[in-house]
Amino acid sequence: MNPARIARFGDSERYFICPICHDTLHLDGTSLRCANRHTFDIAKQGYVNLMPAAKQSPFYNSESFANRARILEAGYYDHIRDAVLDTIQRHIGVPADMGLAGLRGDARPAILDVGCGEGFYSRAVQRANPQADLLAFDISKDSIQQAAREDSSMAVRWFVGNLADLPVRSHAIDCMLDIFSPVNSEEFHRVMKDDAIVIKAVPGVHHDEQLRELARKQLRNTDYSNEQIIKQFGEHFDVLETSTVSRTFTMPPDDLRTFAHMTPLLFHVDIDALDLTQISALTIEARIIVARK
Ligand SMILES: [Zn+2]
Repeated sequence: MNPARIARFGDSERYFICPICHDTLHLDGTSLRCANRHTFDIAKQGYVNLMPAAKQSPFYNSESFANRARILEAGYYDHIRDAVLDTIQRHIGVPADMGLAGLRGDARPAILDVGCGEGFYSRAVQRANPQADLLAFDISKDSIQQAAREDSSMAVRWFVGNLADLPVRSHAIDCMLDIFSPVNSEEFHRVMKDDAIVIKAVPGVHHDEQLRELARKQLRNTDYSNEQIIKQFGEHFDVLETSTVSRTFTMPPDDLRTFAHMTPLLFHVDIDALDLTQISALTIEARIIVARK
């Protein structure tokens, strides 16, 4: 295997623990291994499966997955990505005059992308923050495979993992990224350093409202509320700031259809029964929350 694909796992003992016995994992050849000889091979794409019995969500089959990649690449989420990058820069950015040479070992901020999907945000974060150690995981092996394949930096430590039992050392992470993903507050608290932050994005209240309005007959409640998620999150973390990023795009019918198929807010709607020609624009909106432990 290309040694450059292995290099990022060279300091695995800093971050990774065995998903079976929770002992420290070390790089051993082309595998991560614990003292009890539990062994996890690094795949040729450059990720490691730390969840041997990984399950798939029925909503994230390969089709919804290809749809997501297409919509993300079309630029419809660039404003959200840029807001996330800006938030990282403001909270854990390294002053340019400090230089990369000064950042070794403990000085390198560690960022963990939770439920990273096909890696759209992780790859951008790594590009913008080469001084950081970026770890990214998802429960879906298919998405991690694709994420790793498209990571030209070969620097992101991709892994398949379980949010309820993270194969990550305690007090190892400076910044949790939780972009449209669930939170496990107990595990977040365990892996975060004492002064670490969480950057969380949830759909904004106007997110894809044109599609929800069109699907009104099929939806019990067309009003989407993120209040409950934000309230629950605030019970476990100390919220520092919140902001909303929103853009409304004129969308060609093909993109609207693709979008309708991929959005979780319409998972229980029969998309083919919707007359998508009735709308021509769609709002893509996120609420971004920054919080401390
Ligand atoms: Zn083990």
